Amino acid sequence: MALAPALSAMQRGGCESESAAGWEAAAAEEEEEQGRVDAGGSGEPERTAREEPAKARAPAPAPAQPGAAEEGDARVLRRSPPGPSAEPAQGPWSHGKPRSRGRSCKRSSGRAADGYHFVRPVTVDSSKARTSLDALKISIRQLKWKEFPFGRRLPCDIYWHGVSFHDSDIFSGQVNKFPGMTEMVRKITLSRAVRIMQNLFPEEYNFYPRSWILPDELQLFAAQVQMVKDDDPSWKPTFIVKPDSGCQGDGIYLIKDPNDIRLSGTLQRRPAVVQEYICKPLLIDKLKFDIRLYVLLKSLEPLEIYVAKDGLSRFCTEPYQEPTPRNLRHIFMHLTNYSLNIHSGHFVHSDSTSTGSKRTFSSVLYRLSSKGVDIKKVWSDIISLVIKTVIALTPELKVFYQSDIPAGRPGPTCFQILGFDILLMKNLKPILLEVNANPSMRIEHERELSPGVFENVPSLVDEEVKVAVIRDTLRLMDPLKKKRESQSQQLEKPLARKEDPSDSDLASSSDGSSKPNPDAQLPSICLKQVFPKYAKQFNYLRLVDRMANLFIRFLGIKGTMKLGPTGFRTFIRNCKLSSSSLSMAAVDILYIDITRRWNSMTMDQRDSGMCLQAFIEAFFFLAQRKFKMLPLHEQVASLIDLCEYHLSLLDEKRLVCGRSGRLGVRPPYSGTAQEATAAALLAEGSAPPCPDRLSHSRHALS
Ligand code: ADP
Repeated sequence: MALAPALSAMQRGGCESESAAGWEAAAAEEEEEQGRVDAGGSGEPERTAREEPAKARAPAPAPAQPGAAEEGDARVLRRSPPGPSAEPAQGPWSHGKPRSRGRSCKRSSGRAADGYHFVRPVTVDSSKARTSLDALKISIRQLKWKEFPFGRRLPCDIYWHGVSFHDSDIFSGQVNKFPGMTEMVRKITLSRAVRIMQNLFPEEYNFYPRSWILPDELQLFAAQVQMVKDDDPSWKPTFIVKPDSGCQGDGIYLIKDPNDIRLSGTLQRRPAVVQEYICKPLLIDKLKFDIRLYVLLKSLEPLEIYVAKDGLSRFCTEPYQEPTPRNLRHIFMHLTNYSLNIHSGHFVHSDSTSTGSKRTFSSVLYRLSSKGVDIKKVWSDIISLVIKTVIALTPELKVFYQSDIPAGRPGPTCFQILGFDILLMKNLKPILLEVNANPSMRIEHERELSPGVFENVPSLVDEEVKVAVIRDTLRLMDPLKKKRESQSQQLEKPLARKEDPSDSDLASSSDGSSKPNPDAQLPSICLKQVFPKYAKQFNYLRLVDRMANLFIRFLGIKGTMKLGPTGFRTFIRNCKLSSSSLSMAAVDILYIDITRRWNSMTMDQRDSGMCLQAFIEAFFFLAQRKFKMLPLHEQVASLIDLCEYHLSLLDEKRLVCGRSGRLGVRPPYSGTAQEATAAALLAEGSAPPCPDRLSHSRHALS
């Protein structure tokens, strides 16, 4: 079948990942199961030579969070008195637990008439869950939590959104989307984020195919390909062109030559990524397949990542051959998208999880291990890939986060399930294809009754994998977990003293006591923590994260994502980066140059100023000037150290001056300590001089 025309014909209005438009597209499948492998349980990520201890960064204090009142129960049961406020104060990106809240209501454990505490069920607003609704309902039922399918007047503990963070205004609780995630994982943004990391750490980030952004880098792409061809005339590469906003294989095509890129006016309107095509994938039964792995980003600050122990493997439906001009358009041979292959006459539905065109990843691993493959190594490489990719994405996510939910203002905490699409090469090296912000959580698939007539039927393989992922995500995010655990402990005591007749009364009269703990009946959690568990091995990669912290510190105005010229100057001045060879006039020119170029490239008209990537480019430039002889990542690390050092001196100086009342002229600041610091730093140029009590340490770095 011809690739592009077939693709548009088949795009029955949507993405596999859930997008606001066209969610009716196909998204599920099936398969059987033999012996299972505890897929994620044993793999350890690769050991890397360089290890750096995690840098402790003090979270900015935020007001403690009052909890949310339980609607239905409040009418039935009198609470006397309300329990203690649920969670401790948290920093701006602290998502495991709530931060500041707007509508303050009491969230408390209940107290029955006899004074015995019980824990109310966690409340989940599922009104915007869209196609994940079925799997979510099953999960809530298994957890014995309380669903609000039409939303709720009072705040819920958890809001489950089908598409994006911006689905509605939420001022408290937890929401299953991060602001900016959809933008961050678009093909161009992901390629840019990974490229920054590839510049810094080329070997660590060689799991992502070399990519060029179209139309901006069309000439660069053609020139680089020509250069390699000139060196090696036998080189016959293949490239894959993917529209930026596409999904489910939409608009994708393969080319052998840069001249084959379809320009015809579409690139300007529809930017794309052109990427090296991985010609030698691992095959099973002669078929190409990819892996959909579910990853939970539980918290941005501190970074917490979990990987699901099982995922899905999606198979092509035409035997694979390395690309030739003749087979380039065979989508069923080259593209693994379920939404495409379901339309092939060779798509195999199955009632088990280990056969057919969609299977569990664990069944694939089981098969590979029976052939002697070291699947622990495969898992370890996959976990490394996941952690490194998240490390590439989080710096800009933080910029989005502080813009959407500024510290000190009411807002929810966030978590998100991501869908990682991974290809295994013939040599078993995992390659990242893309990251989905809204992976399909459908648990049914389409079956063709007669040509062109489809019906939806339950899909065993989808249900097995996806319900576990949603349910266990909820378990990890459970805001009442601690209370429930302490309740269980309390319950054990009366049971231990069963002999005492007065106690038996007490045990049965407390609402929760007669109910078995739902957690005890559930399977063990299918999500494995990989970060901070392996933080020591990966923290040295988090340079851009530290650059983003500097960037955010100088943003100044709440809600913005771009640095103004004054902010950039203040950054240079406060970090003592100007010198006789870098005048402030040169700094201004640097700012204008880089900012203008990035703004024209990204076509982002939201607000003017320097975006994070532009700041990173400027930072690289400054680092290269200052530390000429070092490799790039060491240049950058040295400059970050220097900036952090000077800023810590400033903070300390401010503190000392503040204590001695010398900054008393500044109006009292009502925000968090971090905001106060940022505000003070923006005004730093005029800060009164302090006795330099810190000069002894200043020389440490000079
Ligand atoms: P989409 O979001 O449209 O699904 P993907 O990036 O996932 O786009 O690509 C679609 C399919 O194309 C993948 O599932 C995979 O089978 C194939 N593919 C994508 N990129 C490559 C690549 N660099 N090398 C080999 N195959 C690829």
